[in-house]
Amino acid sequence: MPQNNPPRTILITGAGSGLGRGLGVWLAQQGHVIIATDLRSEAAQETVEQIVAAGGRGEAYALDVTSEESIGHLMKALGGTAIDVLVNNAGLQFVASIDEYPVEKWDLLNDVMVKGTFLLTRAVLPGMRTRNFGRIIHIGSIHSLIASPFKSAYTAAKHALIGFSKVLALETGGVDVTSNTICPGYIRTPLVDAQIAGQARTRGISEDEVIDKVMLAPMPKKAFIAIEEVAAAIEYLISPLARNVTGQAIAIDGGWTAQ
Ligand code: NAD
Repeated sequence: MPQNNPPRTILITGAGSGLGRGLGVWLAQQGHVIIATDLRSEAAQETVEQIVAAGGRGEAYALDVTSEESIGHLMKALGGTAIDVLVNNAGLQFVASIDEYPVEKWDLLNDVMVKGTFLLTRAVLPGMRTRNFGRIIHIGSIHSLIASPFKSAYTAAKHALIGFSKVLALETGGVDVTSNTICPGYIRTPLVDAQIAGQARTRGISEDEVIDKVMLAPMPKKAFIAIEEVAAAIEYLISPLARNVTGQAIAIDGGWTAQ
């Protein structure tokens, strides 16, 4: 008989906005305890307020995933709290041609999405090994699997996540720890809203045209991905019955990569 997942303690990075916030609220409603972390501590705090208002449990912490010092402070503040699940979600976008791509933006995107994922994973992994349970989920993107022009740093970083996740899967073969990358198509979050506005300006078309002709055009389902769809995939991946699903890239892309 299928059973609900036991309550888990789930650390989410970049939980102060968009997908990270939505995942935190949804997963808290399933009974999990959320450790909501973000570069902007007040934003993480707002997420926890939403979690509590919805009847869930959570705590907020400031965290810069690129900083070993910041991660050290978080681990100290968490004391002996057992982290069952890590969701490496913090991310950002910057759009420019390779010829004009600023080196500092390249470094920032790769530091947050690749180095940050490595650093956080390394911090929680010893506890997971000791307790013989852990689920590490990387929020990749459709850009972990395909490319778009002007998104070189983002595409490189998101592809790198899949490679990192596979190595982690191999190195955790002997314990009940798994590592997987979820690769969603476009989700309406502040990150995407900014891109819609930016592309409308650059291309001289309306925001509705950006949505229909640029964003949803490659998706046969012609719909944005809802945060709940990503959350439901996480709920599956953290279940005991997903113990043999590891090193995988799971696309939630409206059929984009089926073409
Ligand atoms: P968002 O901009 O709404 O939220 C990103 C959060 O990450 C922000 O709260 C920000 O403060 C935080 N952050 C940035 N740098 C950080 C750092 N150094 N340390 C800690 N936190 C940091 O964006 P979103 O759309 O919710 O994106 C979340 C994740 O989902 C990203 O990894 C993104 O690439 C991925 N994703 C988004 C979409 C989409 O369409 N929105 C699609 C596929 C994948």
